[in-house]
Amino acid sequence: MQINVSQLLQESIGATRDYEINEAADIIGDGKKYATQGECHLLRTQRSILVKCALSTEVELTCNRCLGQFRHPLKVNFEEEFLPTVDVLSGAPLPLSEEASNFTIDEHHTIDLSEAIRQYSVMAVPMKALCKKDCAGLCQRCGQNLNQGKCDCPVQEIDPRWSELTKLL
Ligand SMILES: [Zn+2]
Ligand SMILES: [Zn+2]
Repeated sequence: MQINVSQLLQESIGATRDYEINEAADIIGDGKKYATQGECHLLRTQRSILVKCALSTEVELTCNRCLGQFRHPLKVNFEEEFLPTVDVLSGAPLPLSEEASNFTIDEHHTIDLSEAIRQYSVMAVPMKALCKKDCAGLCQRCGQNLNQGKCDCPVQEIDPRWSELTKLL
């Protein structure tokens, strides 16, 4: 997800560009590629290119309770500043200030959105993902997925014959 901004860098402050994003990328670092769509809006500021993206995708997660795989829609919205590392006209290296953001525009005036998208996608993934709100989970004894039906394990309550006995006692 690379965008060349050499033209935009030469325009005046306030100049903008809009880009459609539509590609498959490994956005949450699990080695799988997920189709990601959306829009990125680029704004030339005094010192940088401000990138605002609104993306959506669907990733595959593992349920925290039943360990089943399920598809989870993900909205990835972010706004990040990309600072140039070289002067667009002279090609001379630019000093980066200490408080500089993590993101830079490389010496070919290219913005690579992949890392920003990855960081924000990972943050958008729920910590304890559930395949559904009322996921029944796994049986603690036999490991059966209780979403797919009950197992044959005895229900944990006192055997009725014993309860009769306790009454006598
Ligand atoms: Zn589940
Ligand atoms: Zn069971």
